[in-house]
Amino acid sequence: MNITSINPYNQEEVATIKALNLDEIEEKLTRAQSTFKSWRKTPYKERSTHLINVAKELKKNKQEYAETMTREMGKPISQAIAEVEKCAWVCEYYAENSERHLGIKNIETEASKSYVRYDPIGVVLAVMPWNYPFWQVFRFIAPALMAGNIGLLKHASNVMQSAENIQKVFERAGLPKGCFQNMAIGSDRIENIVRDPRIKAITLTGSKPAGAAVASTAASEIKKSVLELGGSNALVVFDDCDFDATVQTCVQARYQNTGQSCIAGKRLLIEDKVYDKFLSAFAKAVTQLKSGDPMDPDTYIGVMAREDLAKELEEQLQKSISEGAKVLLGGHRHGAYFEPTIVTDVTPEMTIFKEETFGPVISITTFKTDEEAVDLVNQSDFGLGVSIFTKDEARVEKLIPLFEDGAVFVNDMVKSNPNLPFGGTKISGYGRELSSDGIQEFVNKKTVYIK
Ligand code: NAP
Repeated sequence: MNITSINPYNQEEVATIKALNLDEIEEKLTRAQSTFKSWRKTPYKERSTHLINVAKELKKNKQEYAETMTREMGKPISQAIAEVEKCAWVCEYYAENSERHLGIKNIETEASKSYVRYDPIGVVLAVMPWNYPFWQVFRFIAPALMAGNIGLLKHASNVMQSAENIQKVFERAGLPKGCFQNMAIGSDRIENIVRDPRIKAITLTGSKPAGAAVASTAASEIKKSVLELGGSNALVVFDDCDFDATVQTCVQARYQNTGQSCIAGKRLLIEDKVYDKFLSAFAKAVTQLKSGDPMDPDTYIGVMAREDLAKELEEQLQKSISEGAKVLLGGHRHGAYFEPTIVTDVTPEMTIFKEETFGPVISITTFKTDEEAVDLVNQSDFGLGVSIFTKDEARVEKLIPLFEDGAVFVNDMVKSNPNLPFGGTKISGYGRELSSDGIQEFVNKKTVYIK
């Protein structure tokens, strides 16, 4: 079987990769397992040096890696370069902080000595999505390697060349061959790999059906999983916000990466007192976003990653219109290109409010009171994050504990940062990535008691 990636901007073939056969999968698993035996004994200093070399390689060839991402999934090139740079950051972060995150924790008891140590567990399988082809993988692999674990990747089928490039990054940086391996396979191969005794844990970033399938197999083998799934973040605009800055932040929160981000602000909730003024300024700013060739450094809105995904978004929009929503701006699709779209008069019963919209479409709802705003935010099955925009510090303190999401950002968009834990609640998944929480997900927290 071949796996082909097609440029969604011009329909040209980017690459065709031959899928691994069973013998080749076995070879990768064997190599991963044998590399673990030596890698787990390497001191932090040595692992750090390797990761710093990875960061250097990413920075050195960022243009090459970014161009392949742009060709494979239509991401505007300037945003693709920024993504590669962010991967270098997460490598540097874990190179510098892992020893501290995993340092021995002494605990006083009646024993002469008792403590917790954080030992590696082995080979971790990562199943990853196409929307940030590099970032999703690096935020997993940087802490995994620093903890002494080994990574095996099954990437989304439409970004297999980027997946090969990630393996190339590690090869060029001089890491032992088995530390990180890409497996060019379809998702039908995943179940048996998850069941393989050499795989000790699984991390999946993607949709709910994929997460449910992989996590239930993992659970049946009593293997730990971390799930980073979809989101439908709210952006809550109060009448006392910093007006111009809030408009700009909300535009970026929804439309960057052509709207294909799990933590994008998909539901814009505007306080009634400022509704007309804010909506008109927001719409004006969206009109100014430059659509075009994803390879043009000035392009802000590229094409969606695949035409079928753009069609799905179109269906969600049409369904919402039939339910009473109104299109204020955009609404049309041409192939994989979807116009930046604003949809008003949205209520919680509508498709566009209830489902995740994975493209450049925002839904607008208005509210009158703080309580109503909190209810609207929480009236979602997803729980990745929420942004609130207000200058009132007392209101902020009062509201933060009431949200059910995994993150609350005040006067900014929800974004990932290696220093901060990242993850969701409800059907957005469980477990955390990044920071000390992320690196501690896949370790044996070993209790030691010496009488
Ligand atoms: P997807 O269709 O779920 O695919 C994700 C990965 O899972 C791919 O590698 C896919 O392989 C694989 N997969 C799909 N079905 C599977 C199954 N039944 N068993 C095993 N593996 C399976 O998601 P996507 O379209 O690539 O990405 C978009 C979704 O990811 C959105 O919902 C988005 O919100 C979510 N996401 C979440 C985060 C987060 O941090 N929370 C970040 C980014 C994206 P194939 O490509 O071969 O099918």
